[in-house]
Amino acid sequence: MLYCTKCRAVSAEGSRACSACGSHRLRPVKNGDFVYLQRASEYVAGELSSLFQEYGIRYEMLPYGKGRVVSLYDMEVMPTDKALYVVYDQLEAARTLVAAHEKLEADAAETQPEEEEEAFNLRRAIAACGGAIAFILFIMLMSWLVTRIG
Ligand SMILES: [Zn+2]
Repeated sequence: MLYCTKCRAVSAEGSRACSACGSHRLRPVKNGDFVYLQRASEYVAGELSSLFQEYGIRYEMLPYGKGRVVSLYDMEVMPTDKALYVVYDQLEAARTLVAAHEKLEADAAETQPEEEEEAFNLRRAIAACGGAIAFILFIMLMSWLVTRIG
C-alpha cells in the first residue's frame, strides 16, 4: 500500500496518484503511520473514539478539512465533522470495529419503529376500553332514567 503525505490516505500498490486527493506525493506506507480512516460527525466520532480506546486502537481525531467547510453546497459536511486517523497496522481492525458499530446502529434504528407501533397499539387499546366503559355507563344511565320515569 502507498501512503499519501498530503492527506494521509492509503492507495493501492502501484498507484500513480492518491485515490483520495490526487496528490503524487506517495511513498510506501509504514506500520506506524497514522492513515486516514474516514470522516464522521462529531457525535459518531465521539462514539468511535471511545470504541477505539476500549479496543486499544491508536487513533487521531482532527477537525475535518481543518475546520473549514469544504463546500458550502455540500450539506452533508458539517463544520464540526471530524477526520479520523488510525495507525496503519490497526487499520483493518479499526474498519472492522466501525462496520460492527454501524451495524449495531442500523439494528437499533430498525427496532425503534416496532416500539412506536407497540405504543400506538397500547393507545388504541386504551381508547377502545375507554369507549366500552363510556358505553356501559351510558346504558346504566339510560336504564336508571327508565326506572325513574317508569
Ligand atoms: Zn492524498
